[in-house]
Amino acid sequence: MEPLLSSFFESPMLKLLFLSTPVGPLGSGIGGGVELTLLNLAQEMSQRGHQVTVVGPKGSKVPNVFCQEISGNWQEMIQNNHRDTPILLPENSVLGNMWDYARKVQGDYDLMVNFAFDWLPFYLTPFFYCPIAHFISMGSITDAFDEIMNRVAVKYPKTIGVYTHSQAETFPFNNICRVLGSGLNLSLYNYCDTPDHYLAWVGRIAPEKALEDAIEAATRVNIPLKIFGKVTDEEYWQTIRQNYPDAPYQYEGFFNTIELQEKLSQCKALLMTPRWVEAFGNVAIEALACGVPVIAYQRGGPAEIVQDKKTGFLVEPDNISELVDAINQIDQIERKQCRHQAEADYSLKALGDRFERWFYELVEIP
Ligand code: UDP
Repeated sequence: MEPLLSSFFESPMLKLLFLSTPVGPLGSGIGGGVELTLLNLAQEMSQRGHQVTVVGPKGSKVPNVFCQEISGNWQEMIQNNHRDTPILLPENSVLGNMWDYARKVQGDYDLMVNFAFDWLPFYLTPFFYCPIAHFISMGSITDAFDEIMNRVAVKYPKTIGVYTHSQAETFPFNNICRVLGSGLNLSLYNYCDTPDHYLAWVGRIAPEKALEDAIEAATRVNIPLKIFGKVTDEEYWQTIRQNYPDAPYQYEGFFNTIELQEKLSQCKALLMTPRWVEAFGNVAIEALACGVPVIAYQRGGPAEIVQDKKTGFLVEPDNISELVDAINQIDQIERKQCRHQAEADYSLKALGDRFERWFYELVEIP
């Protein structure tokens, strides 16, 4: 017989299969912030004694957790799709291959967690007998995706997780989304109290992120802007280079977490200027973790993260003059407050607690 006390007090171990984004290997940066969220969550769950396997495109790197690498062609990035863009799968699709693998091994797991923002995993959900949780990493993009996600949300109401309330509000099923936020291994981020005379911009270089607004603001205040991140839209990047030949910016490149935090921590502020409803904005909490205040447009995830006038400034969206005013007041922000906020809200423990509670509910463990 099971020892009653231990089964009563100990948290049961779950067997979890995490299915990654199919737009590129984990660690490449092509997938954006969901890569970091998945990696952090996989490590935290495994640290808590759960058995975690990650399934990702060939070349994926997942420290300390087993990763089943799957070959095949990556999905196109869909950030710039129109509402009526059709559903597309390449020949020998890695997404299809990942879900073929999942179908074969589903009997070995208590729960599968889908991190792909794509049509296929939602369509396949009713055909699996292993329960599937879906963590949605973007706001609404196409009607076809909304329709299939809504179908799953209605049939399996507890299974849809999102980063933020503002992201949930972009979907027709917003009232049944589980808001889970994000979190970081804070021990990797060093606090810096004495920044250099630089501003920072961090993220995928793509039109929805509106890097040009940050360059424009940096030009007006004449403070150099350091740009960190993957160029995922080369044409957009070349247009920026042509349009701002003399602006005070430096493209630094794409870095791993350790290198990124070191360079970011030395900046006066992070500028976040997304044109779309940013689902979360992992870069905001990474900056806070280093003690770097965040100046962001007041919409989407950053508006739920930044504490206005305390850990940064929230300004009218798409308004460069307001960005400039905020930059000019940045010394009013105490950098210690930024680190404190990251510690209070975005630790790995906080992330793990939120997701673990959700997972237990889904497998009906009280
Ligand atoms: N990033 C990185 N190295 C860099 C620049 C960015 O690893 O040099 C990562 C960053 O840590 C973050 C992600 O890129 O996890 C961007 O995610 P965010 O949630 O801000 O936006 P998304 O790309 O998901 O829209």
